[in-house]
Amino acid sequence: MGIRVAVVGSGPSGLYAAEALNDRGAAVDVYDKLPVPFGLVRYGVAPDHLSIRSVRNTLDRVWDREGVRFVGNVEVGSDVSIDELRAAYDAVVLTYGASSDRRLAVPGEDLPGSVAATDLVAWYTGHPDYRGPDFDDLLRRVRSVAVVGVGNVAVDVVRVLSKSPEELAHTDMPDHVLATLAAAPVEQVHLIGRRGPAQASFTTKELKELGELADADVVVTPADVELDSISEAAVAENKVAARNVKVLAEWAERAPRPDAAVQITVHFFARPTQIIGEDQVTGLELQRTTFDADGSLVDTGEHEHLDVDLIVRSVGYRGLALPGVPFDESRGVIPNLDGRVLGDDDAPIAGLYVAGWIKRGPSGIIGTNKKCAVQTVGSLMEDVESGSVGNGSGTDTDLVDELRARGIAVVGVPGWRAIDLVEQQRGAASGKERVTVHDRAELLRVATTTQ
Ligand code: NAP
Repeated sequence: MGIRVAVVGSGPSGLYAAEALNDRGAAVDVYDKLPVPFGLVRYGVAPDHLSIRSVRNTLDRVWDREGVRFVGNVEVGSDVSIDELRAAYDAVVLTYGASSDRRLAVPGEDLPGSVAATDLVAWYTGHPDYRGPDFDDLLRRVRSVAVVGVGNVAVDVVRVLSKSPEELAHTDMPDHVLATLAAAPVEQVHLIGRRGPAQASFTTKELKELGELADADVVVTPADVELDSISEAAVAENKVAARNVKVLAEWAERAPRPDAAVQITVHFFARPTQIIGEDQVTGLELQRTTFDADGSLVDTGEHEHLDVDLIVRSVGYRGLALPGVPFDESRGVIPNLDGRVLGDDDAPIAGLYVAGWIKRGPSGIIGTNKKCAVQTVGSLMEDVESGSVGNGSGTDTDLVDELRARGIAVVGVPGWRAIDLVEQQRGAASGKERVTVHDRAELLRVATTTQ
């Protein structure tokens, strides 16, 4: 008989791990605190990026495999402890991602109207546990927005806030989100990088989309795309940086479109120093920066002020600790060697593994997680072969049955399939692929009536 493994988290890294484990004969239970699978593919990838979101159709096939189960609506750390999992399975693979946000650490960061991109993204993708700012109210008054950070998440946020209602109508965003975005009086969106265009972490395909929006113009200051020697060197060795700079330089020369409903202004070498406002954000203070001869970013002493009603801090995700599991606070990851979780003595903890963002930090594209998960599964299988895992450490008790007996409304594959069907039916009624059900109680109602 093959080994039994619990995977914690049903995002791409968890499902790639489940697939690789099952290929090697393991029975796999994939736990998720949400009643639906797919993690950031559902609650991170921008809803208007339909082709990237369609990865879920591939991921979904994992549930058809014999020996792979979805254990949704079960939170590891509260509904069930890591020790219980370790006792019930031969091995546990943690793939729960990075659900928090990095801080800007400037005064005014906690003012109403200063929000984390992770919150805005959770809201517009219809995350059932969303408890952040009331965007349905906030966005009614927002004319000018600053998005801090120049990664792909920042670009997603700028694009979603700048698209016309027609450009978003076909997405699976919940209806209230579409209505709020359509009514938001957004006119100005500032995208702010503390370093130069050659150091931005967005990718060119994503950047280019900003220049192709139906009713938005992109403004780039020519001086911002003139390269210093540090940036020349960066562009020479990084093809993505070179392509990004080329696109931005073209935009700097483009004739303005004064009739556009939204103006997107890209700022480089602008470091946020303070968020201004008394009981609500009214502005953002920026310090102009430059590179010194060593390539370190230094302040020029020149300041800039932007009048804005909303600041979206898009400076990266951050992983959180799980009770009972070692954690590297400084990096926000679980310490590991090739996916084997390392204890305080830096020795691997038998039967405990990690993959995805909580293993290596919040970077890379979806496919990066496949390689990452396969590496972890390789380590796990080496340990099975060497006899340190799967030597009778797991019990024959079915923990899932036990959780149900404790009164936990575990959502399995049939429950997820029922949700999937309802979402697709609602989408079909309005001529699109699906409408996301965002209310947890409703998700559970749909799931449990068919369990
Ligand atoms: P990211 O790529 O790491 O970008 C974070 C940005 O925040 C960087 O521009 C960084 O600038 C900036 N930043 C950090 N601290 C700052 C501070 N204190 N003040 C000002 N700026 C600061 O992270 P992300 O955008 O959250 O994306 C996470 C991962 O998901 C990435 O791998 C991304 O490519 C991926 N993703 C991909 C897609 C897609 O393929 N379409 C969509 C969304 C996300 P510095 O470089 O100067 O630190």
